[in-house]
Amino acid sequence: MGGETKPTMPSLSHYPKLAAGPKGKQITNIYRDRLRQFTDGGQYYAQGLMDKIVEAKASGDDHVKLQVYSPKGQSRPSFKEATSNKFQSTHVGESFGPSWSTHWFKVQIAVPSQLRKHEHIEFHWDSNSEAMIWTEKGDVVHGLTGGGERTEWILPKNMLDGEEHTFYVEMACNNMFGNAPGDVIQPPNPNRYFQLSKAEIVAINLEARALYFDFWIIGDAAREFPEDGWESHEALQLCNEIMDAFIAGDGSKESIVQCRELARKYIGNVDSEKVYDGDEEAIVNGVGHCHIDTCWLWPWAETKRKVARSWSSQCDLMDRYPELRFCCSQAQQYKWLKEYYPSLFDRVKEKVKKGTFQPIGGSWVEHDTNMPSGESLVRQFLYGQRFFESHFGERCKTFWLPDTFGYSTQLPQLCRLAGMEWFFTQKLSWNNINNFPHTTFNWVALDGSQVICHMAPAETYTAEAHFGDVKRSVSQHKSLDQDRTSLLIFGKGDGGGGPTFEHIEKLRRCRGLSDKTGLLPRVKMGGSVDDFFAGLEKKIEAGTDLVTWYGELYFELHRGTYTTQANNKRNNRKSEILLHDIEYVATLASIKEGKKSDYKYPKKEIDEMWEAVLLCQFHDCLPGSSIEMCYDDTDKLYKEVFETGERVLADALSALGFDDSRADGQLVGLNTLPWPRSEMVELPKTAGLPRYGIAAGDLGLVHVSPLTAAGVSTASVKELGNEAFELSNSSLVVGISQGTITSIYDVVAQREIVPKGSKANQLVVFDDKPLYWQAWDVEVFHLDSRKELYPTKSSVTERGPHRVAVVTETKVSEDSWVRTTISLSAASENVPSMVEMEAEVEWREKMKFLKVEFPVDVINTEASYETQFGIVKRPTHYNTTWDMAKFEVCCHKWADLSESNYGVSILNDSKYGFATCGNLMRLSLLRAPKAPDAHADMGRHHIRYAILPHSGPLSSATVRAAFNFNNPLKLYSHPSPLTVAPLLSAFHISGPDAASLVIDTVKRGEDDEDVSRGGLPPRKGRSIVVRLYDALGGKCKARLNWGGLKVRKASRCNVLEDDLEECEIGDKGMDIVVRAFEVVSFRLQL
Ligand SMILES: [Zn+2]
Repeated sequence: MGGETKPTMPSLSHYPKLAAGPKGKQITNIYRDRLRQFTDGGQYYAQGLMDKIVEAKASGDDHVKLQVYSPKGQSRPSFKEATSNKFQSTHVGESFGPSWSTHWFKVQIAVPSQLRKHEHIEFHWDSNSEAMIWTEKGDVVHGLTGGGERTEWILPKNMLDGEEHTFYVEMACNNMFGNAPGDVIQPPNPNRYFQLSKAEIVAINLEARALYFDFWIIGDAAREFPEDGWESHEALQLCNEIMDAFIAGDGSKESIVQCRELARKYIGNVDSEKVYDGDEEAIVNGVGHCHIDTCWLWPWAETKRKVARSWSSQCDLMDRYPELRFCCSQAQQYKWLKEYYPSLFDRVKEKVKKGTFQPIGGSWVEHDTNMPSGESLVRQFLYGQRFFESHFGERCKTFWLPDTFGYSTQLPQLCRLAGMEWFFTQKLSWNNINNFPHTTFNWVALDGSQVICHMAPAETYTAEAHFGDVKRSVSQHKSLDQDRTSLLIFGKGDGGGGPTFEHIEKLRRCRGLSDKTGLLPRVKMGGSVDDFFAGLEKKIEAGTDLVTWYGELYFELHRGTYTTQANNKRNNRKSEILLHDIEYVATLASIKEGKKSDYKYPKKEIDEMWEAVLLCQFHDCLPGSSIEMCYDDTDKLYKEVFETGERVLADALSALGFDDSRADGQLVGLNTLPWPRSEMVELPKTAGLPRYGIAAGDLGLVHVSPLTAAGVSTASVKELGNEAFELSNSSLVVGISQGTITSIYDVVAQREIVPKGSKANQLVVFDDKPLYWQAWDVEVFHLDSRKELYPTKSSVTERGPHRVAVVTETKVSEDSWVRTTISLSAASENVPSMVEMEAEVEWREKMKFLKVEFPVDVINTEASYETQFGIVKRPTHYNTTWDMAKFEVCCHKWADLSESNYGVSILNDSKYGFATCGNLMRLSLLRAPKAPDAHADMGRHHIRYAILPHSGPLSSATVRAAFNFNNPLKLYSHPSPLTVAPLLSAFHISGPDAASLVIDTVKRGEDDEDVSRGGLPPRKGRSIVVRLYDALGGKCKARLNWGGLKVRKASRCNVLEDDLEECEIGDKGMDIVVRAFEVVSFRLQL
């Protein structure tokens, strides 16, 4: 053996034996940074892709002839008015202004033959401002926003014939965010001019444009996917290959096609909506949206145009991108569109029918939820849902408030009562102290009602539809334990706009990438927000158990909005109370039996007043975060509300026989609140009448007896020297020293309320410079700058015997002062006594915050605050960061700190900001931010507030006193009051738990045949809607009485006045059961 060898096979491998040369490891960051060269507008622009997108252009007089008409001042004429004027020749390069002016352009184009051979022709307009394209006939076709935001309009086919065609451009001298001088929240610059920098016909290379989006998204994958996965590396290699191919082909059309072929390796074919056809589960639901602030850095008048601009562009996009679904809220904006742009409204209606344009939200505007009254929240839904139902045949299912500054605790209940089970927002992502822990959860109201709440994990309602937005829809999703789906709400917003074609193109690529390469969450289009929530509901049915959040969604930012623009807030409160009275009196007047009356329930006026009040509750309006122009507008609108309101109220009273002009009239107090009242009133200055009277009595009409000096109950004042005084009545003894209250002694309870050495009614100012958002925020550190204000003099202004008062003047600075009257009236039987303050303030400060303090001898770790239809409790300590974050909170008519057997309530007539820190209660009065309104709150203010000590815990005494304080008895004259007394006292509640229940609203049924204004089908007969709630938080058994009214049938209904169930009625009333903090409405059919 040996010597045998197997023959060696020659190697078949092509792997070269010898190395060709050195090849280094790619330095990732350098090859990644290189990508910018391809699509960047910098020094390599001409060598990159961007230069290839525009293939040819035509401009100048031969192709784009421009003429302009500039209306005077800030007028915004209609198309018809504007185009009937003489136009003058103008050209690109010219500037137009000043801020807020309007300029109409007549544009005559003729597309030259060398452009017509290209596949895609657009008109590009950039006036560096907002603008809108109108057809020659007067239809809006497209919105434009300068600065490259949205500057293209695809020319319709009929304009490509080489002939001359005319259209108009309405240019507005403001941009998307008004006329801010750089820093967006600074007051607008009134003198801005806008240069028309572009008006041209452009041929586009669609493949080059498509490659731009391919490259953007694959580049994002290279940049944003983790380096420890293959996906980012492959993306980077591919992007470099694309650049190399482009360079090799010298940027030719063919090389661009080849580049796109390369891109498909990573993202697949993304050239149509078919990219969404795959049947694998997509978890990110892309829905287009356009947040249009109804006013903010621009006035309402501009918003009307923003709506037309934004929505016309969206209709156009829907025609080009079948997968686009676009949702928009705020019935008011739809109403404006209908009124000012009827043909566009019809176009929107068509899209709504098709399901592509989706009305959402169910409310009149996207309102603030902290400050409007409970009934205002109800009306936001009632007016909103009725508009949507009457114009689009359907109500909204999702309550939509992405941008409002915190969400009050009864919203879930009201949503359910307005036919909505779902709620979308995201604003809590702005919290600057604590991170809100949920994305998808059940949000639970005071009464236990719940809605499914979703807060988009991309943490925006104006997403640019970036790769990162899609990625964050999972990486920032906080409820993945329960569910992985989410909404991605994209489109330019705040100043309007909505999705652009870029957004939709990017999303197609994101989806393509998920399917072809993976890793990125799969996004889908074509569904609605309602579809998303319906999906969640199905999962809940199948056992998904969402976590819960009970009570308010307190927003840990923008706490200054409870105080800023005091006048506007005061008008809100006053108009809510006026509307309450009008509806109450007009309802009774309209059903008055007896001789035929021609009185008709003033539904039109009531609707107009409510719509105005609801509009002013918009989330930048009532909170005080708009520019000065907006408050000039609201002042005018509120003035109209008050004028109409007083007139309508007078008509209703007159229909009930009240007549102040008759000599034989009897003076009576009108009590529109559902409980007995007894209070001191000032009598009309008629000969023979003393200054005061006591109005006391049950419901409706209250008997007035003039108070003579010999009256039993009195109030007196002692001057103790050195600016010290003692006011007393039979319940309270009040010590005043140097304008502050050093003692309040409750004679009956034998208890001192002001801790020894403390001063109540102490005015304090704070330095108030938040981190950025001036009008919005008051930041926690302002508390460190507390400064007490000292009075200059005090004197007695009323010496009894029925009312005593001391007035104190306090200087805030050289320019500002406060004149406070502290008064005490003679105690009335069965009515708790309170110390009343009336402050007149001249306020000329800069970035200061004025508050008034009430240290009280009460210990509790929680204080109570009135909120809509209930009470919200908040800590009085700073144990955790969640507790501390509530260093300034919202209250309505009262705040209360009580022990088990005694407490103190602070009432107010027009304020919403409050704080309770330990035993110190503090009412916020006035702020002085300088942005976005440089004059916010400057000038004269009148503020009323009161200290109400009470025996026992917080009770109906506080609730009722605060209602009374805000709705003082008004005196009228009636020749035969007994004839209407039964009618005016018809509604009341009796029974063991009656004290907890408040009848908040009495109104006529919306669709009663004698009330209905069309829109929705009328209902036969007359009905009255009575809305009541449990104000204290306990199940109540009681009887709702309607006196002599002939009620034939009663139904429990929701706030939209749909009958839910018929009630068993008795003679003159029916038994009711109301859950803790439940809001209940009944429709009584007469
Ligand atoms: Zn907003």
